[in-house]
Amino acid sequence: GNGAHVPVLIIGTGYGGSVAALRLAQAGVPVHMVEMGMAWDTPGPDGKIFANTRTPDYRSYWLRTRTKQPIVNFLGFPLDKDVPRYTGILDAEDFGEILVYQGRGVGGGSLVNGGMAVTPKRARFSSVLPSVNAAEMYDVYYPRANAELGVNEIDVSWFDSTPAYQYSRVGRKHAQRSNFDFLYVPNVYDFDYMEQEAAGTVPKSALAAEILYGNNHGKKSLQQTYLARAKATGLVTISALHRVTSVSPASGGGYTVVIEQLDTTGGVTATKTVTADRVFFAAGSVGTSKLLVRMRATGKLPNLSGEVGKGWGDNGNVMCGRANHLWDPTGALQSSIPTAGIDNWDDGGAFAEVAPIPTGIETWASFYLSITDTPHRAEFTWNAAAGRVELNWQASWKQVSIDRAKSIFDKINRKEGTIYRTDLFGIYKIWGDHLTYHPLGGAVLGKATDNYGRLHGYPGLYAIDGSLIPGNTTVNPFVTITALAERNIEKIIATDL
Ligand code: FAD
Repeated sequence: GNGAHVPVLIIGTGYGGSVAALRLAQAGVPVHMVEMGMAWDTPGPDGKIFANTRTPDYRSYWLRTRTKQPIVNFLGFPLDKDVPRYTGILDAEDFGEILVYQGRGVGGGSLVNGGMAVTPKRARFSSVLPSVNAAEMYDVYYPRANAELGVNEIDVSWFDSTPAYQYSRVGRKHAQRSNFDFLYVPNVYDFDYMEQEAAGTVPKSALAAEILYGNNHGKKSLQQTYLARAKATGLVTISALHRVTSVSPASGGGYTVVIEQLDTTGGVTATKTVTADRVFFAAGSVGTSKLLVRMRATGKLPNLSGEVGKGWGDNGNVMCGRANHLWDPTGALQSSIPTAGIDNWDDGGAFAEVAPIPTGIETWASFYLSITDTPHRAEFTWNAAAGRVELNWQASWKQVSIDRAKSIFDKINRKEGTIYRTDLFGIYKIWGDHLTYHPLGGAVLGKATDNYGRLHGYPGLYAIDGSLIPGNTTVNPFVTITALAERNIEKIIATDL
């Protein structure tokens, strides 16, 4: 409540925040978590907590009056539609030259993401987090993160036989015919549950096109893993629909945190002030960067490092579709959970997920989300006149990522005698190069912070989320965000508390 004093306040309930909450509580420290999104624990009028990808509704978007779907067009038909403004689950945050998709709610990105749980190849780790001891990460923290997140792998014999992964088998055939490495990608969606969905014995989720606006069954989001265990300690409380707007040193020590309570239209219904001995910034790469940059510029935390706001990257995300021949249908039933990838990182700087388009009809399309090795990094800055934080990302920077993705798909198209789809991202637009799902950086480890996430200039302030990672993880990021948070919180508990 207003005026309270807490030992630890955590801003955000995504991967970094959830790891910090569990480990601090297990060490006996009471923790208060503040989350601007909703709790996502109550069914709507249709009896479901989460909306289906095929039928976005008021629950789907964060304070938008029109959907902003990643695929904007299909066979010439625009897909977006009007929805009531609501504190929905997916934020398509517009920075002018890039749209940054993020999860909103208790569980952060784990509520909306594809669940792909990928540990980078060890040989590539020094490019991901150069200042971190790789042996410790691969011996201790990656295994710990994978175990706690409930990561599992698909049974390849089921993959080989189920209609739901025909699209992925077509992806495999085309990758292998062009001599690319094809990998099965682990996931936090329970593949045993998915097999039961296929058998018709449980309610369907992955096989009923649920993913982008939440999964009602089957997926182990943070609500089922780290956060459940954190709450079970009895030491963790979570305030949903509460947004942190300010952090500054308190006169008697510790930090004053200003928090706005929101209603479901985004209106502010109350403003509260809390004092905390320690504050963990776990608002995600964008949320943490925006807060820190604004606090530094507006004199609330003037001694933050000049590195705060820098080193932001998009993990080189770019999407594309290929048009298959009539003899290569990808199937009307497509599991919404991707479980395969094409690894051309060493030769072409690209790792491509074979992704579904779960429309429920045959599309003859193969669809891919590529993660690419891009050199471009942007910076968040405070625009005092406009009263907002801006990001200087340039749309043209995506060309490097397109070229790297082409190292895979030009070759496959040549081999198969196929072409790119030109309808998915607009009329005659091949590349989905206007967005990222993987914002990383802005409070980079060892630059804006020390080597464990302690923010320079302010004892007791920490960054512990994707903002620590300098822009690229070579694969999907959440396992690395989780493992790094495990490493950092262990050190912080041992030495700071
Ligand atoms: P987040 O998970 O983003 O959590 C931050 C939380 O802080 C959010 O809940 C936010 O609402 C809250 N917050 C922000 N600002 C404030 C504030 N001022 N006050 C209070 N609360 C605040 N990664 C993978 O590894 N595999 C995938 O398959 C995958 N698929 C994805 C698909 C989509 C559509 C998206 C959007 C992302 C996907 N990702 C995937 C990325 C992954 O979800 C993110 O990298 C990850 O969630 C980031 O974790 P985090 O702890 O840094 O922050």
